[in-house]
Amino acid sequence: MAIIKKDVIIIGAGAAGLMCAIEAGKRGRRVALLEHAEKIGNKILISGGGRCNFTNLYSNPKNFLSQNEHFCKSALARFTPADFIRLIEKHGISYHEKKLGQLFFDRSAREIVDLLKKECTAAGVEIVINCGASRIQKEKEFLIHTERGLFSCDSLVVATGGLSIPKMGATDIAYRIAKQFKLAVTPIKPGLVPLVCDQKFLSLFGTLSGVSIDAEVVCKGVSFRENILFTHRGLSGPAILQISSYWEAGDSVEINLLPNGDLYNILKTHAQSRMKLDNFLAQFFSKRFIEKFCEVFFEVKPIYQYVDKDMKKIAETVHHWKVLPAGTEGYDKAEVTVGGIDTDEISSKTMESKKIPGLYYIGEAVDVTGHLGGHNFQWAWASGFAAGQYV
Ligand SMILES: Cc1cc2nc3c(=O)[nH]c(=O)nc-3n(C[C@H](O)[C@H](O)[C@H](O)COP(=O)(O)OP(=O)(O)OC[C@H]3O[C@@H](n4cnc5c(N)ncnc54)[C@H](O)[C@@H]3O)c2cc1C
Repeated sequence: MAIIKKDVIIIGAGAAGLMCAIEAGKRGRRVALLEHAEKIGNKILISGGGRCNFTNLYSNPKNFLSQNEHFCKSALARFTPADFIRLIEKHGISYHEKKLGQLFFDRSAREIVDLLKKECTAAGVEIVINCGASRIQKEKEFLIHTERGLFSCDSLVVATGGLSIPKMGATDIAYRIAKQFKLAVTPIKPGLVPLVCDQKFLSLFGTLSGVSIDAEVVCKGVSFRENILFTHRGLSGPAILQISSYWEAGDSVEINLLPNGDLYNILKTHAQSRMKLDNFLAQFFSKRFIEKFCEVFFEVKPIYQYVDKDMKKIAETVHHWKVLPAGTEGYDKAEVTVGGIDTDEISSKTMESKKIPGLYYIGEAVDVTGHLGGHNFQWAWASGFAAGQYV
């Protein structure tokens, strides 16, 4: 069988692989980008409700989880949100900030995939779709066994992402290649994923499915202030998705339902009020939520009938509601995989393996996971750019 010879083979035409291919191609390297799906950039297309939250104006190393918090700094510093914005402005693509620095395209994520394809063509990159890589051999060069034949290269880039959304084409090949070459992989788990609660919780709060509340959610000393959303399986919403990346089985999650106020002081100030507790609290919450919450936790009476100790308990429950999730909705619903190729194994400058020269890891496959809000794409662009300068 004829072997297709290239300087650089990149497995996975997602955000990271596309960026790396463009950069390597611009340097005159002969690049092939292998993608097992029939379309490139599938996750870009579905992200951000079809508008792709492609970066975050405030993206910085503090927005990432990794066993080595310093690892991501070098790549993020060399390809910043401003660099990506320059690229899309060059192509006349319009975008807007939704909130908290999160940038979305005005029209559709399709535009960015078309842009990246155009840049690949200009850089002479060969994109091969329906080309799943199944096995790697390392002789003098790398040999890549695929559905479309055998490829060989000096530099092999693994850009196959994590395990989230298997029906979109996620595979475990990044971890299998790591195992083959004896590279360490940190424990992996679904991240940015809704939390599932037990039957007892659902029998009490399941009817609140669809209710959303501005809250502060805390787990393991990390906190996020955004909305939480009750679902028919438990809890979701941006604050819960964020905390899920830190959550481990057995951890409880603490929710401050009134992060802007001090309920004990508020109740003290209204200690003579004849209003019933649930009606009084309805000024802060939807009636549907607060009636249920009061019914579950408090004996509902007019405010003046509560003594100081009761008010402290009510405030404590609202500000420090402890929920013990039973699990997560898993990779089927996770936006990312937390963990991945141990960053000790790769150079933060080039993304090349320290043990296996010529083998590179980029994007979500690496143990660098961003917060919600455009940070995961920023890491994909930045790590792809970094490797693209050296492959
Ligand atoms: C529903 C959803 C919404 C999201 N929204 C956002 C968002 O708005 N903003 C944000 O920053 N992040 C978002 N993310 C996360 C973001 O999509 C990922 O972090 C990012 O796509 C990772 O890029 P990557 O290139 O490393 O991997 P991927 O995008 O996963 O690309 C990997 C590619 O490799 C291919 N592949 C896998 N195995 C093989 C194989 N054996 N052979 C050949 N090809 C293979 C896959 O088909 C895929 O195309 C979202 C994720 C999901 C699931």
